[in-house]
Amino acid sequence: MRDEPSLRRDLVTGRWSVVAPGRIKTPRDVAHATTLVRDASSCPFCPGHEAETEVEHARITGPEGAWLVRSVGNRFPMMAEGVSGARSAVDAPAEGQHEVIIETPEHDTDLAALSDEHLALVLMLYRDRFAALARRRGTRAVAMFKNRGPRSGASLRHPHGQLVALPRVPEGVSLRDRRARRYAMIHGRPLIEQLRVEALEARHRVVADTPEWTAFCPYAPARAHEIFLVPTRPCPRWDALDADALWGLAQQLGDVLRRQQRVTEGADYNLVFRGSALTQANEPFSRVWVEVITRRGGDAGFELSTGWSVAAVAPEESARQLREAL
Ligand SMILES: [Zn+2]
Repeated sequence: MRDEPSLRRDLVTGRWSVVAPGRIKTPRDVAHATTLVRDASSCPFCPGHEAETEVEHARITGPEGAWLVRSVGNRFPMMAEGVSGARSAVDAPAEGQHEVIIETPEHDTDLAALSDEHLALVLMLYRDRFAALARRRGTRAVAMFKNRGPRSGASLRHPHGQLVALPRVPEGVSLRDRRARRYAMIHGRPLIEQLRVEALEARHRVVADTPEWTAFCPYAPARAHEIFLVPTRPCPRWDALDADALWGLAQQLGDVLRRQQRVTEGADYNLVFRGSALTQANEPFSRVWVEVITRRGGDAGFELSTGWSVAAVAPEESARQLREAL
């Protein structure tokens, strides 16, 4: 019975997921691949190579004056300032801004190995750069995320994240906003808050619960070992994250990533900082949360042909493994 696949609907996106625990044994879920093409000596994000990066937007320095976290322009931006481009039913200018947050001067490390104090500085720069991009004229939404490892889409090994100011609201954002608005109208509370409360009531999908944040495996995950980090106090947008919530997130994100790395044997992952479109970000239903998405391989034909995702470990089992990991 336990290995029987089930169809589950994710209320956040309205999308169906196949939870198929038996698939963990298929050869597709192998340990992650590592492809190292360059080392620290030729890394543009390492100290001493600052001149090789694009324009610096912000930096946080330590007591000795050396930088600890930097924000620079992306060399190959997905959205760029001053782009004109055609406007038609199928064309729009890719006008915006694309930044990289260099999370540490250290080349061979990652967030799970950083101190809570350093992680708080990283998150502070994410928050402050989100605020700067959100103020930009013409910005409708800001994508904020991190890719770690080749299977996550990362091309550079040095720990870094990205922000992209977008001139249009992407469907993935507007769909979540529409559903959250409708849910709040009917039920009188934000959807993500309801999912957090349900996870806490059921207990078996909770990974970690602290005064500021709750980490749990969602009922209908897109992939095995997917984790949501949801604030316990309302936070409508990333630039509204206060000092207590930021410090609580630094502590919980470090803890959760150490568990994820232990359970998945160091698998690649993405962090996605979720939030509403900027036009919706002051609505009562708007909330921020973080998703930790483990990446073991790309989408296969089934996912491509159906748009459904397949999680090879049930979230109840994922949460048990993550709770017991440390
Ligand atoms: Zn480096």
